[in-house]
Amino acid sequence: MSDSSEAPNAPQAAPPRTTSEIFNDPSADVILISSDQVEFHLHRVVLGLVSPIFRTMFTLPQPQAPDAHVKALPKVRMSESSAVLEHMLALWYPGVPPPTTTMTLAELEVVLELVILKYDMQSLITIAQGQLRNFLASDALAVFAVAMRHSWQDLAKEAAKECLKLPLRTSTYALPASWKHLSPHSLHRLLQYHIGCHEALTALAKTSAWDYDYVGWPQCPNCSVKWTGSGTTTLGTKSFFKSLLSKLAQEYQYTPGRAVEVGSLSFQELVLRLFNTECGPPTTCYQCRYRYYQATISTLQHQWPQRLIDEFETLMV
Ligand SMILES: [Zn+2]
Repeated sequence: MSDSSEAPNAPQAAPPRTTSEIFNDPSADVILISSDQVEFHLHRVVLGLVSPIFRTMFTLPQPQAPDAHVKALPKVRMSESSAVLEHMLALWYPGVPPPTTTMTLAELEVVLELVILKYDMQSLITIAQGQLRNFLASDALAVFAVAMRHSWQDLAKEAAKECLKLPLRTSTYALPASWKHLSPHSLHRLLQYHIGCHEALTALAKTSAWDYDYVGWPQCPNCSVKWTGSGTTTLGTKSFFKSLLSKLAQEYQYTPGRAVEVGSLSFQELVLRLFNTECGPPTTCYQCRYRYYQATISTLQHQWPQRLIDEFETLMV
């Protein structure tokens, strides 16, 4: 519809500044105004459905329109920026398109303060946790802090496991700003868990209960060593394999969570380097060495990660 179709004497109100057409809906009956003066024209019933705070607010008497020609909508001044409000509404408000910018973890923290702590939108907890979980791989230490802030124990545990991949116990690691709400006790617990997992890694490497994964191979065509396929050869294996595990435990002492990533390129490169330099099998035959390497990788993939994960799980509090 063009401007020329409007009635000749209609009031010419300036259009409100909004971030999306959806926030300028003519049927809206309340306006949220951000700290940077952007208006969000919304529906009270929708806000009231997710937030008991809004529901109570809207039961209070509303101001009367001073002029019959002007629709006076109640206004709620918010202390958050329009970017934060837009991201917050995009999580759950009907019809809101995805924001044009990706939410940072710092913005998400403000959104969560708003949604969970300020407006008590309990029905959004699953959505909020999903958003926070997106940052687990990139910033586990901050996710741990935010999860603890909201008493989300399961997510805090997930984050603590991810933190095992970070060298938290080195002097260069600094706490992110998200930790400002947490007590020193939380940091102590996380570090204790980190240290406990390193100790479990070292202890597991010393155990002898490994079923080395030979593949049946009657005899090496190069050096004539007999491979029985039942766990032994005439060369033996246990000492070099345990030496390899011990070196792995040493390499991952500050990042024990990385020790379970047996499929990663860096893990396999490390095994190959140790295998070829410090912890090789007791033979120079290239064919036998290759068989040992295959058996070593296979043993690690099939037995090492799960046993390590089980150990880490028992230490979780
Ligand atoms: Zn051989």
